[in-house]
Amino acid sequence: MGPGKHALLGPSSAARWLNCTPSARLEEAVPNEGTKYTREGTLAHALGELKLRNYFTVMNKRTFNAQMKKLKADELYSSEMDGHTERYFDFARELALAFPSQPVLEIEDSLDLSRWVPEGFGTADLVLLSSETLHVVDFKYGQGHAVSAERNPQLMLYALGAYEKYRMFYQPETIRMSVFQPRIREEAGTWEITRTELLQWAEEVVKPAAALAFAGEGEPVPGDHCLFCRVKGQCRACSAPYASAAEDFAKLDGPKAPALLSDREIGKALALAEPLAAWLASVKDYALGAVLEGREIPGWKAVEGRSVRRFTDQDAAFDALKAHGVAEEILYERVPLTLAQAEKAVGKADFQLFAGAFIEKPRGKPALVPEGDPRPAFSPAAADFQPLA
Ligand code: SF4
Repeated sequence: MGPGKHALLGPSSAARWLNCTPSARLEEAVPNEGTKYTREGTLAHALGELKLRNYFTVMNKRTFNAQMKKLKADELYSSEMDGHTERYFDFARELALAFPSQPVLEIEDSLDLSRWVPEGFGTADLVLLSSETLHVVDFKYGQGHAVSAERNPQLMLYALGAYEKYRMFYQPETIRMSVFQPRIREEAGTWEITRTELLQWAEEVVKPAAALAFAGEGEPVPGDHCLFCRVKGQCRACSAPYASAAEDFAKLDGPKAPALLSDREIGKALALAEPLAAWLASVKDYALGAVLEGREIPGWKAVEGRSVRRFTDQDAAFDALKAHGVAEEILYERVPLTLAQAEKAVGKADFQLFAGAFIEKPRGKPALVPEGDPRPAFSPAAADFQPLA
């Protein structure tokens, strides 16, 4: 779902309040300030939504063009975003076509979760429904953190809300959930459970945790779900494991360990240190905010960071340079369009026909991630010898 109005216990923060029930009330005191990335996500969602509405609903061309023009005027719009939302649109269209008969299809579907979650509601990006299958789709524009569909409570809550909304007319047995995150993975991640399993989870897990979370009760429980918690920079429970991380590392192979770390120890060191770096960054964020608000964090102060010179008026500066004899060729360079820009300018079909033979998709640069990351492991042998599909 794109950023917008949020319930205290909304699906997008469900991983937190289900695992750490006091988190929602603790976060309530901290304003949810938008960042460039959340604004970019909102814009990408709006663009994706417009493309879906244009195809799946009745929308006149003028309205579509006017709305598209408005979105494209946003400073965060890019041809890359256009390409990713195009792929989201293709994915949604293929899903709809794969249903044996035309499904009910709802875009940005508002869902009521209050049967299980006090004052709970949310908006699913896309819901497809038939008498056999309910399929919910979440479009994620972020690229910093790969999201898995498997046992994903945000998607499961959307599925619950959609089931509840349409259960008078449909009782689908298969509940399918997809995360489409085009900046990280080519393919959507999809997971499914039965209706009975979903409803059992709602009664046995969601309902009791939501009651505690709404009351702000229970013990803080740190874990992967802390990643986007607004109080993680101050959270005592979250800081406790890091205080002992150095000691844990010293104990890794006992006092008579050899001078160099073994690969096994390197694995353990990364597992200990990686969350520490993320935690330290959030503590620093919090402390900088506090100092800028005039509070004292003993031993620390804010200083001015490095800045880069920039033109106040580039046109006027260049005019002045040219007036003093600097040739235009020195000031400008001819820059070719990117692949995505050229494809857009020429049109997909012609671009493929004329230039397809000169395009390749190289394998991505290997990156080290924890074992639980949903992406398949990189194989150096495959990268060296396998031809690209
Ligand atoms: S940072 Fe603290 S309050 Fe937030 S989810 Fe983690 S343990 Fe809970």
